[in-house]
Amino acid sequence: MRKRKQPYIGLACTNCRKSHARCSGNPICERCVNRNLICEYKKSGRKRGPKSKKQSFETMIDLKDS
Ligand SMILES: [Zn+2]
Ligand SMILES: [Zn+2]
Repeated sequence: MRKRKQPYIGLACTNCRKSHARCSGNPICERCVNRNLICEYKKSGRKRGPKSKKQSFETMIDLKDS
């Protein structure tokens, strides 16, 4: 038994994604090799502007310093 960590193979390169093709998921997938395309994987940037919660560090320090 081989335990391989494969975190969801829904990932397809940009070319495969465009053509809704099945991507092999390799760094350079077969489809791109056959078609001489540049295989790229773009990470879906869902993160928009991290909400910076400004917590007063002074209070933390104050607790430490007791
Ligand atoms: Zn692909
Ligand atoms: Zn590809």
